[in-house]
Amino acid sequence: MFSNAQTGQLYKAQQLYFESGVTYPYAFRKTQLKQLKKGIKKYESRILEALHKDLRKHPMEAYSSEVGFLYDEIDFILANLKQWMQPEVVTSPFVTYPSSSRIYRVPLGLTLIIAPWNYPFMLTLSPLLGAIAGGNCSILKPSELAPHTANIIAELIKDTFDPAYIAVVEGEGSEAIPALMQFRFDHVFFTGSIPVGKKIMEMAVPHLTPVTLELGGKSPCVVDEKVNITVAAKRIIWAKFWNAGQTCVAPDYILVHQKVKNELVTALKASIVELFGENPATSEDYARMINTKRFDTVATYLKEGHVLHGGQTDREHLYIAPTLLDDVEWSDPVMQDEIFGPILPILTFSDLPQAIQAIRQHPYPLALYIFTKSSKTEKMLIEQVRFGGGCVNNALVHLTNPELPFGGAGYSGMGKYHGRYSFDTFTHQKGMLKTGTWLDVPVKYPPFKNKLKLIKQLMK
Ligand code: NAD
Repeated sequence: MFSNAQTGQLYKAQQLYFESGVTYPYAFRKTQLKQLKKGIKKYESRILEALHKDLRKHPMEAYSSEVGFLYDEIDFILANLKQWMQPEVVTSPFVTYPSSSRIYRVPLGLTLIIAPWNYPFMLTLSPLLGAIAGGNCSILKPSELAPHTANIIAELIKDTFDPAYIAVVEGEGSEAIPALMQFRFDHVFFTGSIPVGKKIMEMAVPHLTPVTLELGGKSPCVVDEKVNITVAAKRIIWAKFWNAGQTCVAPDYILVHQKVKNELVTALKASIVELFGENPATSEDYARMINTKRFDTVATYLKEGHVLHGGQTDREHLYIAPTLLDDVEWSDPVMQDEIFGPILPILTFSDLPQAIQAIRQHPYPLALYIFTKSSKTEKMLIEQVRFGGGCVNNALVHLTNPELPFGGAGYSGMGKYHGRYSFDTFTHQKGMLKTGTWLDVPVKYPPFKNKLKLIKQLMK
């Protein structure tokens, strides 16, 4: 934990570093991105080990969603950064003749990146890629609830970068963040819960610091009557129980057309057995709850409704079986809170407008998944439900495409990132109009006598 004086010194050092202009050139940013990739490669096995210690993530799961994901994104940014940094030429109105106009994407300055525990490595470093690409300095605050990963991040960053450029501050969020945010950052990028997101926004107000908030919510998974049940079931089970349901965009609950509910339940049960065996407690591929606090919260949801499959728990080993829950009410806590664990309630609908009304009880989910063969159903849900982003006939994987913006809407967050959107988030768009001096059109200058008619002709 940093003392107040150390925090102040770090902030000052980053200010001086940024103001030196060293982060501006393309060559610098490119080198830093390459350095980071090299650093992650060097620490790769220790990162996977740390993720196993914190969440018992299988190395395959940890590699693909936390490490390989970053390699791909670094490569994508490197392939495009030079072009993104070019000033964008746009047209200029005739009344400004003889002028040309350009949009310059310039660094913001000092940025603060705050991360949660569920993808503790990726969610700390993925925003950092945008900050580096944008030419900024950064302070990273990983989650104290995934301590092994937080330690590795601190070590990797210290080994790779000058702290005056990029540094890690560890510790309790409720202490470390207010100490940091007494200073003015040019952008705060927060990933985490809605209540803490609100606090971050409050702390940003006195400095008018812009914030990106990547929050959570209840992401519905709608299964229409016209659907490939077997494929839908397998993809839903994979997505829901990846990281034991501790994924911000995990399907929170299923809303299935009543005509195909029984068929879907049979296929969901078969998929759980296929992916994790008859006893998932013995599966190497199934993660654990992060801590006893989260275990206790999620385990209480098992008392609601009726368990169709799973339901077993082992508090000592933070294990909750992949569970399907039936007969829950919309007013039950499991249908009020973001579950963020391996429990999947199944509710039904009889027509699409009814499903849309039901989803609207939890406004603006982070994701929405639509399993259907009907393009009409697909269109209606995309247009009529407000949500961050999602998939049709799939789940989670929209976030792996760096061409797509990733972010919430309303209560699930504000702002977006990944690929070009990260670059845009971490840069300021400076609009510049340049006028030739060989001609100075006199119409705008007083005296205005007899000029109104002309200006009306030019600006109709
Ligand atoms: P959290 O809000 O408790 O913590 C996130 C970060 O905020 C941590 O670094 C923590 O140290 C810090 N923090 C905690 N209390 C603080 C305080 N009082 N003041 C300042 N900072 C504080 O979230 P979490 O439990 O780590 O993560 C789970 C939540 O994150 C879920 O709601 C999930 O949906 C959401 N999430 C969203 C995304 C996304 O991309 N939208 C991704 C992952 C997780």
